[in-house]
Amino acid sequence: MWIADTIESMRVHREVFRREGRSVAFVPTMGALHEGHLSLMRAAAELADVVVASIYVNPTQFGVGEDFDKYPRPLEHDLKLCEAQGVAGVFRPTDAMMYPADALPCEINVPALAGVLEGEFRPTHFAGVCRVVAKLFNIVQPDVACFGRKDYQQLKVIEAMTADLMLPVRIAACPTMREEDGLAMSSRNAYLSDEGRRHALGLSKALREAANLVNDGESDPAAVEAAMRATMAAHHVEVDYAVVRHPHTLARLDIIEPALTGGVIALVAGRVDGVRLIDNALLGGQGDT
Ligand code: AMP
Repeated sequence: MWIADTIESMRVHREVFRREGRSVAFVPTMGALHEGHLSLMRAAAELADVVVASIYVNPTQFGVGEDFDKYPRPLEHDLKLCEAQGVAGVFRPTDAMMYPADALPCEINVPALAGVLEGEFRPTHFAGVCRVVAKLFNIVQPDVACFGRKDYQQLKVIEAMTADLMLPVRIAACPTMREEDGLAMSSRNAYLSDEGRRHALGLSKALREAANLVNDGESDPAAVEAAMRATMAAHHVEVDYAVVRHPHTLARLDIIEPALTGGVIALVAGRVDGVRLIDNALLGGQGDT
């Protein structure tokens, strides 16, 4: 497995694949890899001839006071995991390469999606995500890129950005990997105390509760949202939001009619031990989140 430490060396590796006629599936990550990331790499291997991953903790998607400095960076271990998954190469740029001091920054965003939910709590987040993903796509030039449904709003933002800018990359959405008890895997779970780890189950339990209500025919979004909030609060989760939305536009719903919209998406976010966790589930539709 090669490691590209510069943009130039990444471009050289890309050019070799192009000459060889090999298609590239790309898995962008911030490292601290877990089974969720590895499942993306396995999905990627099914979609193209070779898999390229990136490991880059992108500063522009972190807000002031967020965990950029303490975000885990177990680089050697991450590289071993990539190699074990059969990844062809890892792109591992530095901040100075991605954001040269003399560059005049460009703004890319999808305001219709980026201002709600996560955007209300992390107002600069999706602009940072769009900017880094656009840069990474231009450097790696993948045929297909894999993103987890775990970050559902991010997935929708990237799908919209890619479509609107007509970027020649197919976006593949991959299911959320969970611990046995239902907790969605996340690099941030490592911050949780034992007690926090138990409380964190409130998020996935709230989503299961919402799924049961919708399956039983509950059509009032407010009723489902109240039940999710109550479950999270009972687990001592400080709720940021617990909502049911349209699965593509993330718009509010007057009524839950999964057959009309292809399911509805339940999204939850909250803080446990001061750690911000998010999760989601598609209710009444086809496909796993
Ligand atoms: P991150 O390193 O947190 O930026 O995540 C990199 C990619 O892994 C994103 O596409 C995430 O949506 C995806 N991802 C993170 N956690 C999971 C999970 N539990 N299951 C599936 N994909 C995930």
